[in-house]
Amino acid sequence: MKEKILLYFLLISFSCFSQTGKLTGKLILKDPENYKKVLENTYIILKTSIKTDSIKVDSDLRFVFEDVKAEKKIKIFISPRNYPINICYMMDLKENEVENVEIPYTSTCPYSKDRNNVCPICSKNDEVLPIIYGLSAGISYKDKDGNPTDKNGKIISKEENEKVKSISGGCIVSDCQPTWFCQRDKLNF
Ligand SMILES: [Zn+2]
Repeated sequence: MKEKILLYFLLISFSCFSQTGKLTGKLILKDPENYKKVLENTYIILKTSIKTDSIKVDSDLRFVFEDVKAEKKIKIFISPRNYPINICYMMDLKENEVENVEIPYTSTCPYSKDRNNVCPICSKNDEVLPIIYGLSAGISYKDKDGNPTDKNGKIISKEENEKVKSISGGCIVSDCQPTWFCQRDKLNF
């Protein structure tokens, strides 16, 4: 009789905690030259409404979370952060479901501050514009008769005056942002 009661309680407690699923995934490394560093240092952080769990990636950069509470809006982060923008992934997990996610990951900032203005795709700089962050106002010069000039006072055509001289990068300044924009390849670098 005692055993029957015990079994009954076990069944109840099992059914209370059985609404879980499994989450598997893999980091798709965008800077494979940093593989070793990523393997040694990278954690996947999983946040549900009841707990936060973290796990190290294996040699294939895969990870598995067992018995994850089946619910909506489960959050996944990566530590150290993803570049250039730190992303938090949100997902829904159903009971007994096995969800597999592939997460693109760049472990270091792809933009170097001391990079020169030569585009890495076309290897030229004739179509390259500087990206200006923060509030910027266009500066234009005129001579005494109102003709548009360059900054040395040489008269230039209206078209030249209106030519875009820089690209606005917006007001948000982060620790990882591009300095140049190639108009030919539509590439920030
Ligand atoms: Zn280019």
